Amino acid sequence: MSSIGLTQKRCTGCGCVIHPAEHAVHFPCPGCGDNEIWRCESCRKMAHPYTCVKCATKGP
Ligand SMILES: [Zn+2]
Ligand SMILES: [Zn+2]
Repeated sequence: MSSIGLTQKRCTGCGCVIHPAEHAVHFPCPGCGDNEIWRCESCRKMAHPYTCVKCATKGP
């Protein structure tokens, strides 16, 4: 059996699946520091806002 990682990351801004080849960024939430924020390439380019699911911190 091959071990394929099914833990696909989703963009916090638009909810799309983050592809490994994509130039996505992730960083700990500036509000709670507990949740990881993921931003896909298009959200970075569009400066799409995100909302933390844990503490509702909003950011560009
Ligand atoms: Zn996105
Ligand atoms: Zn947070």
